[in-house]
Amino acid sequence: GRKFFVGGNWKCNGTSDEIKKIISTLNAGQVPSQDVVEVVVSPPFVFLPLVKNELRPDFHVAAQNCWVKKGGAFTGEVSAEMLVNLSIPWVILGHSERRALLGESNEFVGDKVAYALSQGLKVIACVGETLEQRESGSTMDVVAAQTKAIADLVKDWTNVVIAYEPVWAIGTGKVATPAQAQEVHAELRKWLQANVSAEVAASTRIIYGGSVSGANCKELAGQPDVDGFLVGGASLKPEFIDIIKAAE
Ligand code: 13P
Repeated sequence: GRKFFVGGNWKCNGTSDEIKKIISTLNAGQVPSQDVVEVVVSPPFVFLPLVKNELRPDFHVAAQNCWVKKGGAFTGEVSAEMLVNLSIPWVILGHSERRALLGESNEFVGDKVAYALSQGLKVIACVGETLEQRESGSTMDVVAAQTKAIADLVKDWTNVVIAYEPVWAIGTGKVATPAQAQEVHAELRKWLQANVSAEVAASTRIIYGGSVSGANCKELAGQPDVDGFLVGGASLKPEFIDIIKAAE
């Protein structure tokens, strides 16, 4: 079976005091065991060492991005090698905010995923359509093209989690209905079966992101192809513990 996965994407938020408070709340939280749920939180780069050192050992950390190739003369970037050097196990790649605001193309994201995996990182690879794309009926074409750019370069999917995050649901309070999420997750799994392998389709976690909350997580988690969540706003709040509990 696919172990339930709950990621907290803290995005570009927090002071060191605020981050310490979030860590205390997480460390005190009563959650199911690691056999039942994999929990990963993703602070901004500068707070990664702090979080890694202070966070309970059954929760893991992720960077929110890394450079596409080996480090070097790339001012302002952080390389996959550096994350490995600090024993940061996970990285989020292809988040829609980076695709939209920083112009990351499908190919660039595919290259990043392949390189990060080659260095031994585990990757949360984000895909998802805009409202305009959904309304024009191209959701699955968009999501398939984003996934294909990754699949073209990735052979071993063991260390990949796919996050389906419809852009119109991110930070809007407009969560996808359980049926809407399930529909895309099932289509994505079918795409993996047809284009990668039945084994990869069956074993790869596909998690949902976009306005996930303590109130809506249970019903979403009940969908057969929803294997967890990537949580933004609610991951900064004690509510994140309730979302982790949706694994049960
Ligand atoms: P929200 O949960 O704030 O909608 O953000 C989702 C997201 O983008 C997680 O990566």
